[in-house]
Amino acid sequence: MLNTLISSLKRWRKPAKPAGPRIVARSDHNLSRRDISRAALTVMKRLQDAGFQAYIVGGGVRDLLLGGHPKDFDVATDATPEEAKSLFRGARIVGRRFRILHARIGREIIEVTTFRGHHSEGEAHEAQQSEHGMLLRDNVYGDLESDAVRRDFTVNALYYTINGFEIHDYTGGVQDIEQRLIRMIGDPSTRYKEDPVRMLRAVRFAAKLDFQIEAKTAAPLRELAPLLRNIAPARLFDEVLKLLMSGHGERTFELMREHGLWRHLFPDNAALLDDSSALALTRLALRNTDARIRADKRVTPAFLYAALLWPAVRNEQQHLVDKGTPPVPALAQAAQKITAAQLVHTAIPKRFSLPMREIWDLQLRLPQRNGSRAQRLSEQSRFRAGYDFLLLREESGEIAPGLGQWWTDFQQADAEQRQQMVQKLQRPGGSKGGRRRGRGSRGGRRRNPQNE
Ligand code: ATP
Ligand code: MG
Repeated sequence: MLNTLISSLKRWRKPAKPAGPRIVARSDHNLSRRDISRAALTVMKRLQDAGFQAYIVGGGVRDLLLGGHPKDFDVATDATPEEAKSLFRGARIVGRRFRILHARIGREIIEVTTFRGHHSEGEAHEAQQSEHGMLLRDNVYGDLESDAVRRDFTVNALYYTINGFEIHDYTGGVQDIEQRLIRMIGDPSTRYKEDPVRMLRAVRFAAKLDFQIEAKTAAPLRELAPLLRNIAPARLFDEVLKLLMSGHGERTFELMREHGLWRHLFPDNAALLDDSSALALTRLALRNTDARIRADKRVTPAFLYAALLWPAVRNEQQHLVDKGTPPVPALAQAAQKITAAQLVHTAIPKRFSLPMREIWDLQLRLPQRNGSRAQRLSEQSRFRAGYDFLLLREESGEIAPGLGQWWTDFQQADAEQRQQMVQKLQRPGGSKGGRRRGRGSRGGRRRNPQNE
């Protein structure tokens, strides 16, 4: 009788609390206050002086423990967004799903988040779930411990305080950093259903940090991947940039394929990856992007999206040409169709989709070099991107090499040499680039037949 009472009491007393934090003392970690931005330190100090708690949490702590350079510092506090706002001039509260304070210190913006709580403790209107178990709103406030278990991965739930310079670890994150593991806090399936973007974050951090995804964290990915279709395309576009344009795009792509995520973000690309040139083009575009980021060169989503969608655009165009549509309108129609299909999954803001279209259009125009055309083309604003794209297509094996080299030579030539290059084209049987031997990836089908 007593036993049943105790066990029912135990069941009633939820949620079960973790056993308290592991506290890593200042002397036992390599994280130094000097590595933290002045702005983040100012924010923490001001919150503490006003009687609130303040910790650095997330990527800032994680990346410093790994010896890296965090791209930003996030601060967690027990002050509500309104309370924190009153401490910083010009601060703004942003977000709806999660309300966050943007505190501006000098030129830096520090994100200040209020400790999240357990949902059972909150009012219904502060937290909302959809029929798929997805969290629509999550503005229930709590303490440091409840905040830790609401975070995604253990390595992202480490808290650093300038009050004693300790690290507070409620979820085993320090050990997982040592073992290089991405481990979901709590039940992975439930946490992915609450927010399917966490599936993308798992592969993003694994690729970026060169960590393994712990087995239980990886297990549900393939089955739950279709939930990505419930995420707003605008949020997914932002996430795609973080996945593919942060310097580890190629590795991220491979991991996304491995876990069945890729085809839910880029179905038209995924469907064609059996075609070796489509796979090669995708990998090359991502590898180039990674290399450019490492070299501090400019990268644009327009170029990357142009590459990811090109195999489908090219196929569709060919399909229309085979049915008798002339190449130029066929490309326009194909571009329209494939772009519209992609927008259902990830948004592509106009400032990127327009240059993407121009890069594709140039693929039909670059073979046409007669008269003053080559000169005019080379002066066009999007020429360089179109030319780079042509080189990728040649390198991928989609088309035979030749035209790319002609354009490389043209750009290096002086005015007189350029004229000669163009004149050579006009002589039938001219040695270089007269007719391009455009060969398709499959079965030698001739592409872009409207060459000269
Ligand atoms: P980086 O900024 O280097 O990409 P980060 O870990 O700082 O990595 P952010 O997206 O800046 O990632 O988020 C800050 C922190 O907020 C994370 O470390 C994590 O603790 C928490 N967080 C972010 N997104 C989620 C999410 N979808 N679910 C749960 N916690 C999240
Ligand atoms: Mg961050």
